[in-house]
Amino acid sequence: MRERTYDLVVIGAGPGGYTAALRAAQLGMRVACVEREQAVGGVCLRVGCIPSKALLESSERYWEAREGLEAHGVRTRGVDLDLAVMQARKVGIVAGLTRGIDGLFRRAGIARFAGRGRVVARGRVAVEGAELRAEHILIATGSRPAPLEGVAADGQRIGTSSDALEYGEVPRHLVVIGAGYIGLELGTVWRRLGARVTVLEVADRILPGMDAEVARAAQTVLAKQGLEFRLGARVAGAEVRGDEVVVQVGEGEAVRGDRVLLAVGRVPNTDGLGLDAAGIATDAHGHIAVDAGFATSVQGIYAVGDVIRGPMLAHKAAEEGIACVERLGTGRGRVDYGAIPSVVYTRPEIAGVGRTEEEMAEARVPFRKGVFPFRANGRARCLGEGEGFVKVLADARTDRVLGVHILGPRAGDLIAEAAVGIAFGASSEDLARACHAHPTLAEAVKEAALAVDGRALHR
Ligand code: NAD
Repeated sequence: MRERTYDLVVIGAGPGGYTAALRAAQLGMRVACVEREQAVGGVCLRVGCIPSKALLESSERYWEAREGLEAHGVRTRGVDLDLAVMQARKVGIVAGLTRGIDGLFRRAGIARFAGRGRVVARGRVAVEGAELRAEHILIATGSRPAPLEGVAADGQRIGTSSDALEYGEVPRHLVVIGAGYIGLELGTVWRRLGARVTVLEVADRILPGMDAEVARAAQTVLAKQGLEFRLGARVAGAEVRGDEVVVQVGEGEAVRGDRVLLAVGRVPNTDGLGLDAAGIATDAHGHIAVDAGFATSVQGIYAVGDVIRGPMLAHKAAEEGIACVERLGTGRGRVDYGAIPSVVYTRPEIAGVGRTEEEMAEARVPFRKGVFPFRANGRARCLGEGEGFVKVLADARTDRVLGVHILGPRAGDLIAEAAVGIAFGASSEDLARACHAHPTLAEAVKEAALAVDGRALHR
């Protein structure tokens, strides 16, 4: 058996693993990265964040060309969909970004090993007949779609997000199970392209975990776009009958569609990693148990991203990967979990960072709230995007910003200001006093911060 020695072996080349590998190489470590898929980038780049954003953009343009231009005095006629071109564009974007990471790896001198990595013991990783030795091992193997009892995904009529990114034709009626990130984003894509879309959600609200006021407003806007929501809908099973799927909701009721997208969360990829043999402990939810420095129960073995606790977000995984290897290389490195933004890329976008109003009420944190609607923002009006609002939540005692939640145009970009503010311990007064260019969408953040103190000028 071939044997090679490194300072760090990373298992998994997704956002957690590949960024960790790059940062470790910057810090002078000899790094190897093991990846079972041909392409690097993980679910996010291959079959997640990036291809979905490509389709969201294309479908938005299609919808805009059909329905959204008349108000601007632009008349269109005969707007047609070429789904094959749309899909090919998506594939090209993914391929280009994948090649980009390959290039970064080459330049950083990171050794790549194709195949499934398995931890043999402390300091030892097996991959395809080779054994890699390293002082440090980082597990960043990500997650996969959670199964749902009674709903057997066949990749055809019943599929997961990967399948819903690949449809070769627009479904007649897409039944989405789960009103989370994936359900709303991919539901939106196919709705814009002409499908009837029904979203079945077991909870009594969409986007559980995000700020409830924002989620309620988002549901209203998305419903206007034609997404049909059934809340409190517990899916008991789904059965393929010819070219139709019958989805059983609760007792007796059924929803029929030609495609079903199962999007009820994700589970960590821990199988086949040799965790038991190596003595690596998992927690009650099946995640790899780690301490604040990402160390597992076995010395020299670390884990980051979707395989450990916390939100399953690419940027959270990347921050953890970087912090983990910085701790190894420099003794310092941390993630500010209070300042991790989350974004749902519908139109308008939905974004949040920090604590929700519900979390603050539950923790009995006294807070003040400032809200500013986009309809009172000049730039939003010119864009024709007046729906939604910015909400700033600040500690009533100190004025420190604890949460910012946005439904509105480019909310995913606007939330960066709030994340930086929270990371730097900004008060709402700080956000309000900072000069924001006019006319910009970001002025709505400033006005919401002013509104915390009842000083918003434009409402
Ligand atoms: P999610 O956790 O966001 O949403 C799952 C939804 O399914 C929840 O609303 C839940 O209540 C519902 N549900 C659970 N069981 C159900 C049942 N039996 N019947 C009906 N509804 C049920 O999960 P997701 O949308 O599958 O996304 C998976 C992960 O991927 C998320 O954790 C998310 O962080 C990540 N993701 C992020 C982005 C982004 O950042 N824009 C996009 C896509 C996915």
